[in-house]
Amino acid sequence: MKTTKPKLPVSISAWQQDPGSGAQPDGGPMIQINEPKLSAGTLPTKISNPSKAPAAKVYSPGTAEFRYWAAAAALERASTYWGALLPGVQWQVGKVLPVDLYHGEDFNAYYDRVGLRFFQGQVGSRTVYSGESPDIVCHEQGHATLDAIKPQLWDAASIEIGAFHESFGDMSAILCALQVPSLRHDVLAETSYSLYANSSLSRLAEQLGWAIRQGHPTLVEPDCLRNAVNAFFYRDPNTLPSNAPATSLSSEPHSFSRVFTSAFFEGLARMFHTLPAQDEPNLLQVSIDMGKILIAGIRAASVVSTFYSQVAVKMIAAASSLFPGPYSDALKGSFVKHGIISAASSQSITQQVTTSIAAMVEPMTESHDLPKMAISVSEYGLGSESIMVHSAVEPKRFNITGAALDVGPLQPVSEELQAKAFLEDLIRRGKLKNPKQPDPVYTVKSITGSAPPVHYHHTHELVAEGDVMVLKRMRIDCGLKHM
Ligand SMILES: [Zn+2]
Repeated sequence: MKTTKPKLPVSISAWQQDPGSGAQPDGGPMIQINEPKLSAGTLPTKISNPSKAPAAKVYSPGTAEFRYWAAAAALERASTYWGALLPGVQWQVGKVLPVDLYHGEDFNAYYDRVGLRFFQGQVGSRTVYSGESPDIVCHEQGHATLDAIKPQLWDAASIEIGAFHESFGDMSAILCALQVPSLRHDVLAETSYSLYANSSLSRLAEQLGWAIRQGHPTLVEPDCLRNAVNAFFYRDPNTLPSNAPATSLSSEPHSFSRVFTSAFFEGLARMFHTLPAQDEPNLLQVSIDMGKILIAGIRAASVVSTFYSQVAVKMIAAASSLFPGPYSDALKGSFVKHGIISAASSQSITQQVTTSIAAMVEPMTESHDLPKMAISVSEYGLGSESIMVHSAVEPKRFNITGAALDVGPLQPVSEELQAKAFLEDLIRRGKLKNPKQPDPVYTVKSITGSAPPVHYHHTHELVAEGDVMVLKRMRIDCGLKHM
């Protein structure tokens, strides 16, 4: 009689969270997992470059086969985590999100409503591949996930909304990392169960941070690209410089994202400490609870220029509604500490949350595009007197702003000024594509057949719609310094 053996799952090896460790480009722990299934679940992905998957087995780091499965493991990790929280949600690009692991030479990665693009860059004899790091893959997939649930953020002419997209990428990296059992174990030991401490979990993209640090020591943290544990207090981003070393806050989206990320991460730690035991199963539980709270908060938040405080208030309300108990106060304490909401506002939040939780967490009516508003741009030499921008002006249902540095809440700035500050910031940082002034500094060679011959780092362009020019986003570019 013929017997068929049950098919045993095939294992592959991958990084636990990043190939790097602290200030070093290597030393990150490795894991072995079952062969990732990218086409499964509600948020499927597909590696389109390279087009052929190597046989699934355990490979050594440094090989193309290892890199393929390391990227696949991270893609599956993010799809499984977010997919479970977002039933029925589809990518902006359609059913499957394409992924290019070798889009060109750069220390970079981006999402552009076509797919996720990863790059490779040379430092001495070492090549650093951004698609090999789970932190970076889960960050990029975070952009695509946020775009799937809140597409109107894409074109919003607001510094704070651009920074929130970056923060969501880093929050995605942290929450997805917490789905790995060995990482939960390691981080509890590393932080002595306190969580909100500089650790392998709070340090994002250590290897890419190392690569950028070799040429530009002040652009990144001393031991990673960005750290979710930091002491930055909320400021109106329109008052910040366009660029600054990593030790200071600037209006550059990755820099300003750190304010929200640290408030979120400390909120997560405080929520964890409200649980009866600070152990590995509860760390998994709080990471899933926080994902639910974050999604509900974002869905219910009005798209306005003070988006941080809107999301924070809706997260506090969602915590009350979904998890009656101490989560809500734990989160509020952290958002107040980091200045995302003022201490004065926090009192009225408590009253509003108690009286109208249902209204607080009701998702905003989904509209794909924000309303357009004309702003005069004659002073910028863009070949047009005025342009249209997508303005972050959805009606606010709760009038809460961040904290001013002196005392009390910040006074809101007009939407036209917000939009103009956003445009000026793009121009100062060379992120607005200007066909009249092509900037060769911002091009890098591509080395693959599928990629365009040059790659630009512009994030926005002016597109003619009838006889008006409209400011449109081209991509969310995640590089800090380009080769
Ligand atoms: Zn990003």
